Amino acid sequence: MSILITGGAGYIGSHIAHELVDRGDDVVILDNLSTGVRENVPAKAEFVQGNVGDRDTLSALFKAHQIDAVMHFAGSIVVPESVENPLKYYDNNTAVTRTLLEACVAESIDKFVFSSTAAVYGMPHADELPVTEKTPTVPINPYGRSKLMTEWMLQDISHAHDFRYVALRYFNVAGADPSGRTGQSTPAATHLIKVACQAALGVREQLGVFGTDYETRDGTCVRDYIHVTDLAKVHLLALDALQAGSPSRVLNCGYGRGFTVREVIDSVRRVSSVDFVTHDLERRAGDPPELIANAGELRAQFNWQPEHDDLDHIVETALKWERRMMR
Ligand code: UDP
Repeated sequence: MSILITGGAGYIGSHIAHELVDRGDDVVILDNLSTGVRENVPAKAEFVQGNVGDRDTLSALFKAHQIDAVMHFAGSIVVPESVENPLKYYDNNTAVTRTLLEACVAESIDKFVFSSTAAVYGMPHADELPVTEKTPTVPINPYGRSKLMTEWMLQDISHAHDFRYVALRYFNVAGADPSGRTGQSTPAATHLIKVACQAALGVREQLGVFGTDYETRDGTCVRDYIHVTDLAKVHLLALDALQAGSPSRVLNCGYGRGFTVREVIDSVRRVSSVDFVTHDLERRAGDPPELIANAGELRAQFNWQPEHDDLDHIVETALKWERRMMR
């Protein structure tokens, strides 16, 4: 298959690009390198630097390549930034995707895999955990809303046109390619496992724990951390399912289990053998106490078998990547 990956120089997109190239698919990457890194792209992938929202770029790309399916990762993902600059998110995540979808429909590209987020669920109540795909979608920030709006576009397009999609709602993606080819390279990334690894390596002096008075087993928030390589595999399965003619789907991507912030910190200390300093801070606005996926549907639909679901292993690969970034 020939696949267009938007945002293929980014954290998640580059992992999927490597997996697809590994199995012999043709990969074309479109990325403006605003946060992506050219070196993280597989050498065998065709790389186009440009904006997904530029209709002419898309037309030229579709003319030059016979694309069978699109995987869409390009977008903005920083929640506090989305609150301060909502229009950026409705542009980068919603309007740009509309342009891409318009081009897909015009070119009769009928298979689409979309990188969505658990942020579409907002703050699920305790009795709604773990969240299923049927849990009400009530996002609490522009980031979540901008992604949910895209899911709605996909749904409507799939009814109006010969077009099928899989929207994957990611929980907390972490870790790096075990063979060290790519990883989370955005310097300003704020994700817990990345920043804890940076604290262990002395790249940052300390780590703040946002909120210690939640009603969880140790007072800190619980999240479902999924290894990026397991997530990449889900994308390949989604693509294969679409290729085999399966209907559109929306699926949660997590393992169905959670760790507290303190448990993650313990793991990073254990794996790195560094007892770095942490500080207890106030709660961060908009953090749900607990977010765990019910991943039953994903396993049932795709017969997905995770291979990297041990927390220390996730941390080990993240740490290895951070060490590489320091060189
Ligand atoms: N967190 C923290 N300190 C940090 C970064 C994150 O205590 O420096 C907490 C955050 O409040 C949340 C969890 O770690 O409870 C996961 O946050 P992250 O930003 O990695 O992902 P999110 O769940 O917000 O998508």
